[in-house]
Amino acid sequence: EAKKRGGNSVVSFNDELHVRLLKRADLELRLRTAIGDGEMLLYYQPEYDLRSGDITAAEALVRWQHPERGLMQAGKFVSVIEEINLSAELGRWVLDEACRQLSEWKKSSPVVPPSIRVNISAGELISADFVNFVGALLSRYGHLPQELGIEITESTVMREVDDVLMTLHGLRQLGLTVAIDDFGTGYSSLSHLKELPVDILKIDRSFISSLHTDKSDRAIVSAIVRLAEAFNLTTVAEGVEDASTATTLVELGCRRVQGYLIAKPLAADNFITWLSEPRDYLGAPNPLAST
Ligand code: C2E
Ligand code: MG
Ligand code: MG
Ligand code: MG
Repeated sequence: EAKKRGGNSVVSFNDELHVRLLKRADLELRLRTAIGDGEMLLYYQPEYDLRSGDITAAEALVRWQHPERGLMQAGKFVSVIEEINLSAELGRWVLDEACRQLSEWKKSSPVVPPSIRVNISAGELISADFVNFVGALLSRYGHLPQELGIEITESTVMREVDDVLMTLHGLRQLGLTVAIDDFGTGYSSLSHLKELPVDILKIDRSFISSLHTDKSDRAIVSAIVRLAEAFNLTTVAEGVEDASTATTLVELGCRRVQGYLIAKPLAADNFITWLSEPRDYLGAPNPLAST
């Protein structure tokens, strides 16, 4: 952005704008070396089946241990990574780290999540050797393909349709699970959805947060669940924060949930400890749920 404003364009550099541009430039500069310097780490958030009580997956969410600003959430820097064309580098690191962590858990823990799903952005999905990269990772670490899955946002799927479709088909052929993230916000056409090689629709948090009070949210979620059933897809509700929302979701036919009610994203050690403890979401809160 700073570059575009250079040249002949007239910009009044008030102090606030100046500070913002400096901060942004600094962020970019640090991000370019952050992955190689080992400043990224993965947190894990469980996906839970309210009826069976099973943990169905762990979602890996990237965090950046910024030297001065401390631990930063993905929402604060992933879009910058995409803008400066580092998404392929991040994606490879995330996939490798998730596989490495799963190996470590298999060696050291009696319980491991049945699968890990990582978030992948468009910039990476269109790269031609993505499927080969994933296949090589699986054999290097000795994981089954169903132990790994990817999440792509609905708007990603709508862009670059042909290339993305080819990669998704390849991943499904390998045996990976593919989930569409933030579903409901990306204007998928129904005919398009019918063609998509996906397994899971993750209903965006914006429809979930007022679900038990907002009638139209309830109608939308109910429609998504029925649509998914018709296409043989599983639904997962994102951002479930309280028990009454969970109860409503079960009523509507969505039994898989993710959100602070179950657990916040946790560092690897905390996650595996949490996984080994008994759970009861309609009863006592889990002590680690708020760390
Ligand atoms: P997402 O995949 O939809 O992840 C859910 C986001 O909501 C996460 O934020 C998570 O911390 C937060 N969250 C989970 N449960 C709740 C809840 O009950 N209430 C509320 N208010 N929030 C909840 P985070 O970690 O900041 O990630 C933001 C987005 O960044 C993700 O959205 C995903 O699209 C992207 N992202 C995260 N990790 C990666 C990654 O490794 N690679 C790429 N390309 N994108 C990533
Ligand atoms: Mg996700
Ligand atoms: Mg989401
Ligand atoms: Mg989201």
